[in-house]
Amino acid sequence: MADKEFYGHVIDGAEVESLDGARFDTVDPWTREAWAEVPLGGAADADRAVTAARRAFDEGPWPRMGFAERGRILHRLADLMEEHTDELALADTRDMGKPLVQARHDVARSALNFRFFADHARLATGEALPMDSGHHSYTRFEAAGVVAAIAPWNFPLMLETWKVAPALAWGNTVVLKPAEDTPVSATVLARLALEAGMPPGVLNVVHGYGPDSAGQALTEDPRVDRITFTGESGTGRVIARAAAANLTPVSLELGGKGANLVFADADLDNAVDWSIQAIFRNAGQVCLAGSRLYVQREIYDEFLARFTAAAEALVIGDPKDPTTEFGPLASLEHYTKVRGYVDTVGAEGGRMLTGGLGDGWVVKPTVLVDMPLGSRQVCEEIFGPVVVVQPFDTEAEAVRLANDTPYGLNAMLFTENLHRAHRVSAALTAGTVWVNCFFVRDLRAPFGGVGDSGVGREGGNFSREFFTEPKAVVMQI
Ligand code: NAD
Repeated sequence: MADKEFYGHVIDGAEVESLDGARFDTVDPWTREAWAEVPLGGAADADRAVTAARRAFDEGPWPRMGFAERGRILHRLADLMEEHTDELALADTRDMGKPLVQARHDVARSALNFRFFADHARLATGEALPMDSGHHSYTRFEAAGVVAAIAPWNFPLMLETWKVAPALAWGNTVVLKPAEDTPVSATVLARLALEAGMPPGVLNVVHGYGPDSAGQALTEDPRVDRITFTGESGTGRVIARAAAANLTPVSLELGGKGANLVFADADLDNAVDWSIQAIFRNAGQVCLAGSRLYVQREIYDEFLARFTAAAEALVIGDPKDPTTEFGPLASLEHYTKVRGYVDTVGAEGGRMLTGGLGDGWVVKPTVLVDMPLGSRQVCEEIFGPVVVVQPFDTEAEAVRLANDTPYGLNAMLFTENLHRAHRVSAALTAGTVWVNCFFVRDLRAPFGGVGDSGVGREGGNFSREFFTEPKAVVMQI
């Protein structure tokens, strides 16, 4: 095998090794071979990165240069990301097995995150409130300080930029810790940021694990002013506890078990297309996945036949092949977890209509029926290409089933009845409801979860509230 490529930490404008020289491999889940190496960061490396970010915030030009100048650099970074689409997309594809076509799409959305938040921050910088008393109150949205951004592996670059872009646009400095399974695109992003003219220490990347590693150290550092985390609900609880010790505000985007309701009056072609996307895109490794599919009984058999045929038609293969629609799971650890759900379908009392294990770390698009409501497959976040399908009779029953989960990230519903669309949207416990679609985002809209799916909202002004310290100035005129 060719020499492994090396991608370092990026701290204070330089690409560096860990202080103790330790490294770890990142594995391509299709070839199941290590393809790159990154430094294994520990508490001392996190400390270095926070020191750099702190200095860049307290003394450097970034928070002081103004929105237009920062925006120019962020747009330049977006330009460079677009120019480096292949490099960035291939990094995520090799790190976690995402089909290259989808990874390229993620790069485009990531560049857009920088463009959007650069412009949004410039246009949303203040509010003036003339008061009846004759006083004037105005609001300043001042940068919060040093932001620790901790990211998962399923949409590496896209979810990192969703945090980093608004944090930077509002004048903060950042320490980004990508997931250990998907480190490479973060280093490439930080290299491009320097090339775009971002001052040293403004965007730092430190690699490593969570517990007893760089991740935990970042959450415990009192010099960090905001923690933004996306990952599992259990990890979110650990991070919230760490943040509480320093009273550090924390934003938590956590797990999901999305319900997808297909009513008998739905446009079936549209419902089948989106329902397939909702559970099999990115091999189901999507927090927003429509992993519980409820179909009204009148159309249950027909829908299921079409849905199953579409699942079987997905092209499984090497994620680097542009015709591939469906790749392997991201790691051996994750494959083993998802396999545990597939292997126990019969024991839990259900039936597999199609799917099961493929070659290597592939779990094929898998459709389960007759699963008891209390089974692990119905209740737990599988985070893989496994959907449980169940019939329902009435709208009330559909809403009850959909809401019967501790999660509340999102839900989908398919109907041609406008009244039903609004009524059911209002009744669902979820941060986002998609009607007759899935995954469509407006960056101004709130994004976040209810219950075990998270704390707080990001997007547009919601990101502004989190990444700034709003200050009221009240003047007697
Ligand atoms: P994870 O919680 O295992 O890890 C996420 C990140 O946290 C990694 O960078 C990891 O190193 C770090 N980490 C782990 N323990 C830590 C600790 N004690 N202190 C600090 N950092 C720590 O999650 P994952 O397996 O990478 O991602 C999958 C999960 O993310 C799923 O549950 C999925 O639903 C969720 N997710 C949610 C959203 C959303 O927007 N709500 C989006 C994508 C993924």
